[in-house]
Amino acid sequence: MTKTKSKSNVIPFPMKKLQEKPKCGLCGKKTNLIQTDCCGNWICNDEHKYVMFSYARNSCSRNHRRFTLCGYHQAESHSGNWKDCAECRQSFMTEMYVWYGTNEYNFEKLENPPSYKPTKCSRCGIIIKLGTDGYSMLCDQFWCEECTAIKRKEDIQEHKKKQKK
Ligand SMILES: [Zn+2]
Ligand SMILES: [Zn+2]
Ligand SMILES: [Zn+2]
Ligand SMILES: [Zn+2]
Repeated sequence: MTKTKSKSNVIPFPMKKLQEKPKCGLCGKKTNLIQTDCCGNWICNDEHKYVMFSYARNSCSRNHRRFTLCGYHQAESHSGNWKDCAECRQSFMTEMYVWYGTNEYNFEKLENPPSYKPTKCSRCGIIIKLGTDGYSMLCDQFWCEECTAIKRKEDIQEHKKKQKK
């Protein structure tokens, strides 16, 4: 037997078509996927899992739609790319803008996020991460979760005292 075929055409074994099964760009699951409206990436079709008012962040598609600039940009029908969209930039405090653009719900992250001063609790001075920490806002002041709870207790006690009189 002589080698007559040209080298380049020799394929060792039948190659499978290079068509990878799509997977969710956020969590990697391969079942029940849809493509996002905003950027066409594959994502879990799991929005039904979200329980109303639960604030749970267990739905990939909801998280991307609600907590990223990409989703916001599409929902608000801005033009161009979200990464250099002035409207998106103006819509949020810098910290939230950066969080929306760089959190784990993004397929692509903001490359040069602007810097910002960390938000601190007005009462105890602890740094509050607005994207992920619990907090409350009073006028233009931020209160961490703990101080909010303390404040609430104080308010209730104050209220009770007044009632006793
Ligand atoms: Zn997913
Ligand atoms: Zn998107
Ligand atoms: Zn935008
Ligand atoms: Zn505090």
